[in-house]
Amino acid sequence: MSKEKPWPDSIRAGECEQHEPLVRRVLAPNPSPYTFTGTQTWIVGAERDVAVIDPGPTGSGLSIGDPADINGAGHVDAILRATRGQRVAAILCTHTHRDHSPAAAPLRQATGAPIIGCAPLALSDDGPRADSAFDADYTPDRVLTDGERISGEGWTIEAVATPGHTSNHLCFGLVETRALFTGDHVMAWSTSVVSPPDGDMAAYMASLSKLYERDDRVYYPAHGPAVTRPRQLVRGMLGHRKQRERQILRELEKGPRVIPDMVKHMYKGLDPRLTGAAGRSVLAHLIDLENRGRVARDADSWTLVA
Ligand SMILES: [Zn+2]
Repeated sequence: MSKEKPWPDSIRAGECEQHEPLVRRVLAPNPSPYTFTGTQTWIVGAERDVAVIDPGPTGSGLSIGDPADINGAGHVDAILRATRGQRVAAILCTHTHRDHSPAAAPLRQATGAPIIGCAPLALSDDGPRADSAFDADYTPDRVLTDGERISGEGWTIEAVATPGHTSNHLCFGLVETRALFTGDHVMAWSTSVVSPPDGDMAAYMASLSKLYERDDRVYYPAHGPAVTRPRQLVRGMLGHRKQRERQILRELEKGPRVIPDMVKHMYKGLDPRLTGAAGRSVLAHLIDLENRGRVARDADSWTLVA
């Protein structure tokens, strides 16, 4: 089992690893500060039918900040190799970041399987929601809503709506073994990036609480190791976010602040490549606090509401 193996990582990009009788993992070749050892494509099913969760990036694959990246090349071939002799019955996407969903289209073309899962992103309501990390070409054949199920030989997968990291994020529960594929919503190696306007901290916290109420045995995230004590991790994450919020309020007690200064104080020892993401997370907290009447903004400057 994966938990006894060293991390990172017990396999190389393109290889396939069995995690339990119904669950295999293929690692995509897109390691980065945002994706850890790479996107993990999960394959569910041991008989003829399988479901493929988060097929990953394509040729110009990785996502955030590096349009020239070509690390995703070959990942569809790796998925086809791993499923040889079986039928891909469904291609599922947890959300439409470019390290998760672009390979869905070429995989559909290669296998004839439908793309089922999260909704395409609503590109505007109060302004454009998409940023460069979004896969605008994602076109699902069927969108699952919270609680909807699909099944194949020996497996049943239930959609669990978990907005926050993105507005369209779904987790997928494997009913037979109480495994939950958590996408980017909950990962053990890192906190999830919540980047406004599409990322929403209040929704993210509500989605964490929703998982805390469930009885999942194990989480298989899209990046990083499996989580064998899910509720403990989720409780820790809820506490971590509340602590960040208190930190922000303490910063503002000293007077009006701009986000880059707050990040400098709050994230000591941060990988400089992640400074932008940390700033987005602070912004997500501030918007949540603003909606709750705790803080106000004037241009780039934030203040406590007395
Ligand atoms: Zn993501």
